[in-house]
Amino acid sequence: MLVAGGYGFQLRAAQTPLEPCQLATLEPGRNDVVVEVAGCGVCHTDVGFAFDDIPTRHPLPLILGHEIAGRVVATGEDALRWLGRSVIIPAVIPCGECPACVAGHPTICRRQFMPGNDGNGGFATHVLVPARGLCPVPEQLPSGITLEMLAVVADAVTTPYEAIRRAGLGSEDVAVIVGAGGIGGFGVQIAAALGAAVAAIDVDRERLEQAATHGAGLTLDANSLDLKAMKTAVRKFVKESGRKGIGLKIFEMSGTPSGQATAFGLLDHGAYLGVVGYTPRAIEVRLSNLMAFDATARGNWGCPPEQYPAALAMVLEGKIALAPYIEEHPLEEAPQILEQVANHALRRRVILTPDHRASKNGTKLADKTKVAG
Ligand SMILES: [Zn+2]
Ligand SMILES: [Zn+2]
Repeated sequence: MLVAGGYGFQLRAAQTPLEPCQLATLEPGRNDVVVEVAGCGVCHTDVGFAFDDIPTRHPLPLILGHEIAGRVVATGEDALRWLGRSVIIPAVIPCGECPACVAGHPTICRRQFMPGNDGNGGFATHVLVPARGLCPVPEQLPSGITLEMLAVVADAVTTPYEAIRRAGLGSEDVAVIVGAGGIGGFGVQIAAALGAAVAAIDVDRERLEQAATHGAGLTLDANSLDLKAMKTAVRKFVKESGRKGIGLKIFEMSGTPSGQATAFGLLDHGAYLGVVGYTPRAIEVRLSNLMAFDATARGNWGCPPEQYPAALAMVLEGKIALAPYIEEHPLEEAPQILEQVANHALRRRVILTPDHRASKNGTKLADKTKVAG
């Protein structure tokens, strides 16, 4: 099966705007699929590739985008069962065969495939990916949820989900989410759905108000409070919440140096620090605090594909609201959107949506998208 006539937006060189490009004819290998992109989320990792001199593993030019939901329109001979199905593509697709994968650590697979990093990604009408790890999406979605909205499950929902799962968070716990934005907004909801008492910290008042209506029992404005005041407020919250106050579970989801400093500074006896956000910049910490507090710090690179169905179920059951945290824009706006995300001009996570009617009618960039047997 071949798919011809698609188009996308590629990064030709770092520090330059994304440029439109035609896709080569996509021919899936035995275990590959071609997904017609319904939506692709824009992540700060894409900004890192485009503007922060973080190199993509596949040389440029490359179509970015690793937060993809869509429909399988072509497959190789061993992936036929996926044909026609709605899917979420995991942001990190492990090989399934290397020592790390066999040992149950698929997120550190060195042969992993990340769309928009190891090959062309989802800022396009179509993307070619391995079938391994695809997360099936039911054809009947609850009202108010569309396939394109589910793009954010590929990274913005599953990455905090995995961090929280690894922390073993439960109803006896207090979770502190530092950064209630694109990732942390979902982190707050996941932690609350698991029964934890949740404190959210951010520098943006609107985000804090949103966190308060989506599961946070305490919100702290890091603009107006210093670390000492935040520590005091969190201790008071732990007492009031009726939890035992053993081992605070802190999650850094802002991906900013100041957020990281706050998260580390909140460490207390027996605390757990989950590092979810990414920044290329370094901060200075007294690492011995981990020893002094008998504390644990842990990171996670994405989420194993086998955890995706459970994270998706939380969305479909209404435990994680997507709509207030996302906004959709046409794929054609990709270059401007990426710059706006880089400048922190957008409060919500953007999902780029290709217009498949346009590509089929031969307007815009594509002459004709064809699927041929
Ligand atoms: Zn990402
Ligand atoms: Zn592997």
